Amino acid sequence: MTDLPANITAVAHQIDAEARRRRFGHQGGVVWLTGLSGSGKSTIGVALEAHLFAAGMNAVLLDGDNLRHGLTSDLGFSPDDRRENLRRVGEVAALFAKSGAIVITALISPYSEDRARARKAANGQFIEVYVAADLDTCKARDPKGPYAKAISGEISEFTGVSAPYEVPTAPDLRIDTTITDLDACVAAIATEAKVRFIGDMSA
Ligand code: ADP
Repeated sequence: MTDLPANITAVAHQIDAEARRRRFGHQGGVVWLTGLSGSGKSTIGVALEAHLFAAGMNAVLLDGDNLRHGLTSDLGFSPDDRRENLRRVGEVAALFAKSGAIVITALISPYSEDRARARKAANGQFIEVYVAADLDTCKARDPKGPYAKAISGEISEFTGVSAPYEVPTAPDLRIDTTITDLDACVAAIATEAKVRFIGDMSA
């Protein structure tokens, strides 16, 4: 949390993270999926949410494309707007995590500084997953059609074509979706999420 502005006093809560952990059977936390458009973030996010929910965990997916209809509908794709987009989603994800949920976010999140800020907002309760796929594969997949539009110039500032993507240098998990099928991707992330956020419930 940044320093509070003058004249704002933080309110102390009676319910803490430990009380929520005991109530829900797991800690709250954030699983942050980052990668190029078409790498598989949304597909994995949807399947992971269902997988964790079926396993009894309170998992919820925040998908960047869906959020752009509301929370971030006023933002475009300039570097400043992308930064603000990620700041907002990082803060909202941290609030959900504080409420005890396991939040899965699916956003390109191209800048390492913004991803680091999201990790900080979540107080370290954060698993950064690099959803890796080479650009040629992503272009060939082009599930929602943006690469064709970016290459023709219809969309500007498109990550991988006309805007940068900073590859995570030390993600908690790296999953290559060109060689790992969807079920195996989901299983690997779910295992990590259970280790980190369930841990030893007898403690
Ligand atoms: P993103 O959210 O990263 O833009 P999407 O999930 O929308 O990507 O699209 C990824 C595309 O790649 C989908 O058409 C999906 O079916 C396909 N795909 C192929 N293999 C995988 C995999 N192992 N994991 C996730 N998606 C995969």
